[in-house]
Amino acid sequence: MNASPHDAHVLRELASALGKAIAEARGGEVLRIKAARDLAGEVRDHARAAGLELLAAHASRLFALLAVPPARWGVTVDEVLAAASYEAERTKLRPSSYGLPATLLAGRILVVDPDATTRTTTSDAIRANLVEAISTGSIEEALHEGLRRHPDAMIVNADLEGIERLHAALGKPPFAILGRDGLTSHRAAAAKKGASLYVQRPIDTEELSVTVRRLLDRARTPRPKVLLVDDSPHRLVDLSRKLDGEGMTVQTLSDPTRVLEVLDEIRPDLVLVEAKMEPLDGWELCAVLRTAPEWQDLPIVFLGDSEDPESRAAAFRVGADDFVPRANDLRELTARLLGRIERTRLLRDRGDRDFLTGLLRRSAFLNGFSSLLNQARRRNRPLALAILDLDHFKQVNDRFGHLAGDRVLVAVGKLLADHLRGEDLRGRWGGEEIVIAFPESTRETAAPAVRRMLEDMAKLAIEDDGEVFHVTFSAGVASFPGDGPQPMDLFATADRRLYLAKRLGRARVLSEG
Ligand code: GH3
Ligand code: MG
Ligand code: MG
Repeated sequence: MNASPHDAHVLRELASALGKAIAEARGGEVLRIKAARDLAGEVRDHARAAGLELLAAHASRLFALLAVPPARWGVTVDEVLAAASYEAERTKLRPSSYGLPATLLAGRILVVDPDATTRTTTSDAIRANLVEAISTGSIEEALHEGLRRHPDAMIVNADLEGIERLHAALGKPPFAILGRDGLTSHRAAAAKKGASLYVQRPIDTEELSVTVRRLLDRARTPRPKVLLVDDSPHRLVDLSRKLDGEGMTVQTLSDPTRVLEVLDEIRPDLVLVEAKMEPLDGWELCAVLRTAPEWQDLPIVFLGDSEDPESRAAAFRVGADDFVPRANDLRELTARLLGRIERTRLLRDRGDRDFLTGLLRRSAFLNGFSSLLNQARRRNRPLALAILDLDHFKQVNDRFGHLAGDRVLVAVGKLLADHLRGEDLRGRWGGEEIVIAFPESTRETAAPAVRRMLEDMAKLAIEDDGEVFHVTFSAGVASFPGDGPQPMDLFATADRRLYLAKRLGRARVLSEG
């Protein structure tokens, strides 16, 4: 395949227009059917000329299929169109100076606004954040594009009908609403539709930038984890199933005396406790948790009898965050739990993450690393640490500019997200230095994982102004307990091995020396 960036771009546009034309032709109007068929022919010819044989074949098939009336299209037209769209979209995966390759972008946001000027301003502000923008003018178009390209978040004009339908169809990504003014009632209406942010027109680019970051932060947040403690196994099963259906990952515990040990394993975002239990009741359990330094900030919510004000007051006295009547409506319970989890996360994550890469900043990484190390020591388990430094990164900046360098950093952040397990802690140590902690791993088991990452990184072709370049990194790996008991022992050893890897010629991972 040898499509030029220009051909690839034109073909993606044509394929997208073809999708719309086919949708319009479904009504059965002869002229519209003809227009769709002509477009299929155009895609076919263009794809053939560009050497994209598979796309040409799909388009050619569509050209034949569209000769019969829509009533007889069945699902075949949809299937072939989907295959063609996929092939057209794939041209983007090859680096081009048009659309950046998807891996080099921090995320993808769908813009829905009938006003072309607002659409352009919004999309430009998104792209300025190294985020891909999918620009659409109606809910229908947004549905079509969104189902195909899976955006991480959306920014939608407040006046459109069917926002909720679009939101649900795309799997409820976080979204912001663009409204005409700052009226409280308009903001309230937006929140009711499920929007997490409201942006007022005329658009302020700075505010839009903040919105883009907030939306992507939200999209990156994993499902909330809840520990449910109740000595009645029957109630445990029932409630955990319900909460799971509301988007929470629920772990259950029927023996309240084991709570500390289980918390250590699970590290939930919130604990939901039944007030009346044996042999430790909810009040006692809560008091126990609040005496542990590690669990001071953990949200604790009680389930109990609403009729008894004294038992409620007692719960708040021992450190509960909320008290929900047992017979309560599931919607209210869900809203109270998710609201609590979100506020806690906002407080914790504020300033903890680096936007470009989605990685923890240095101090947040150090905090997390210390607690992982304490945990490893208590449980007598290993913990590995890797330090990565990009090779000759100054040259990348010098030759291609700082923005190209930043794109590489975004790609590294994504690569890490793809390769690592949820429990692996990752941070940005400094400019182009990355740190990763691998719980339950020794340096011997962590090093191959880092090497696989290096292989994938080296494969990534990055193009700028027609020049293709590749970036590698060097890394040093150390682990507890072999390389020392303290965080600084591990950092010093990993750093020494990193330096050695650089001296030995770069693009390698060392776990010895
Ligand atoms: P080496 O292989 O020895 O590591 O060579 P190097 O050029 O990568 O050297 P070093 O690690 O000392 O230099 C780091 C360079 O990374 C300096 C700076 O130009 C670049 N850099 C650091 N932070 C950023 C950033 O946030 N964005 C961009 N674009 N470049 C950065
Ligand atoms: Mg460096
Ligand atoms: Mg470097």
